[in-house]
Amino acid sequence: MGELSGRLAGACSAADDTAHAEPGRDCPLCPRLAAFRAANRAAEPSWHNAPVHSFGHPAARLLIVGLAPGLRGANRTGRPFTGDFAGDLLYRTLIECGFASGTYGADPGDGLALAGCMITNAVRCVPPQNKPTPEEVATCRRFLRARMEMLDEMAAVLALGRIAHDSFLAAMGARRSAHPFAHGARHAIRPGLTLFDSYHCSRYNTNTGKLTPGMFKAVVQAVGEHLGAPRASR
Ligand code: SF4
Repeated sequence: MGELSGRLAGACSAADDTAHAEPGRDCPLCPRLAAFRAANRAAEPSWHNAPVHSFGHPAARLLIVGLAPGLRGANRTGRPFTGDFAGDLLYRTLIECGFASGTYGADPGDGLALAGCMITNAVRCVPPQNKPTPEEVATCRRFLRARMEMLDEMAAVLALGRIAHDSFLAAMGARRSAHPFAHGARHAIRPGLTLFDSYHCSRYNTNTGKLTPGMFKAVVQAVGEHLGAPRASR
């Protein structure tokens, strides 16, 4: 990941890279999302209502990139994909394919452990109507880039949806025209790093039949076959 270092240095000015991979609770960089966060804190003071940090181990070989926290999912519970339909399908599939162990209980205290993977989002704060603006995606990319920079063993990325795909390519400095998004596609980004695409595992996509559980599992299985068996529960 050395080629990212120069760009990362421009995005992060302080010495502690760990801090830059995960934004603070009151990150002010997206005014619309910060205002939405404040309104949600007032309406639901018991919820997380803050940027949702990545979940997994720093030695992960697979990074899964979603879009953004769901209002009543990760924004409520504080763990990516936890508490809404997308998490039901994602975590069930990860367990079935050996990338997670334990029982998914839709709660950060459920004891579920990831095996060789990490889950993050292209945008760390919940956006209204689940739709971040292109500017918000670009602004939050500094945290995605920092997270990628810290995963020394990252060998595969699974992008859930086109926005995650595009933001990953932008973070890598790769051209979109060379790597068009398509469900089930895989892209050789550089030696030792492959990008896999899936439609997002949202309720909307499954309700409309755009993505079936079987289609989603096939992509995750392909990632597992590409990487070999996860080496340890993490
Ligand atoms: S989306 Fe990202 S950059 Fe924007 S306010 Fe939230 S944490 Fe900060």
